[in-house]
Amino acid sequence: MTRIVYVNGRYLPYGEAAVHVEDRGFQFGDAIYEVCEVIGGRLIDEPRHMARLERSLNELQIPQPMAPRALAHVMRQVIKRNRVRDGLVYLQVSRGAAPRDFYFPGPDVLPTVVCLARPMSRAVPAANALKGIAIKSMPDIRWQRCDIKTVMLLPACLAKEAARADGAKEAWFVDGDGFVTEGASSNAWIVAEDGTLVTRQLGSAILPGVTRTTLLDVLHEEGMVPVERPFRLNEAYAAREAFITSATQTVMPVVRIDGNTVGDGRPGPIAQRLRNKFHQFAAISGT
Ligand code: PLP
Repeated sequence: MTRIVYVNGRYLPYGEAAVHVEDRGFQFGDAIYEVCEVIGGRLIDEPRHMARLERSLNELQIPQPMAPRALAHVMRQVIKRNRVRDGLVYLQVSRGAAPRDFYFPGPDVLPTVVCLARPMSRAVPAANALKGIAIKSMPDIRWQRCDIKTVMLLPACLAKEAARADGAKEAWFVDGDGFVTEGASSNAWIVAEDGTLVTRQLGSAILPGVTRTTLLDVLHEEGMVPVERPFRLNEAYAAREAFITSATQTVMPVVRIDGNTVGDGRPGPIAQRLRNKFHQFAAISGT
């Protein structure tokens, strides 16, 4: 079956789907995106992803490319046309294509919208969650607006590649003061030595992860009170548990950080419980 990709109003075969060579997403990283988990053909936490997309557009003064309902329709079509049951949908909006110039183009230039969907077996993250993953830390060399979900992901690519070379699945970025900001493509959490659940507070240093927000709902329901504050690597090395959150991993236990064993080296009970509960609390929208 040919994969189908949505580009600016058209549903095209994968091999024919393309954007202009002067697209600002390509030349300047002048674009934002969302990744939404799909389970059983249904979207997980769609309203929160769409709200964040709108916020990212507003922060960068990229015009809303179409009404939210139309965008939602596109995502559903792409999922349907690709017959994705379990997987993800990727939606990217750039400021559009115009002769290369740092200044924003005029209002006649319309944003570029690309949407694609990809099947992904749930068995792979499930198997990883049984063992837990390793983390490698590295300096956070990203810009100072990490709260916007832009496609400027080169630091994340470099970090992930370095992590992989070290046998780790994710990188944790560390700011100039020695505090963990977040993962290359996830938010970072620990259960500290004293049992407190800790994750960094929102701000321009981290992405406001949708999974992070939904997990806060789970915690509230569980009667658990997380502390939102920065934590250092030493605290993470000595933690009882650690885990990451993201749309494609949900809650993924961490068992090693920079070669240090976390807890007893097995996924912690809190991370496992939260992982199992997560989808009971996420919003699930039909297609
Ligand atoms: N932080 C960064 C830098 C990310 O790239 C991501 C997801 O890609 C996250 C956090 C987690 O966000 P979400 O839970 O919305 O997937």
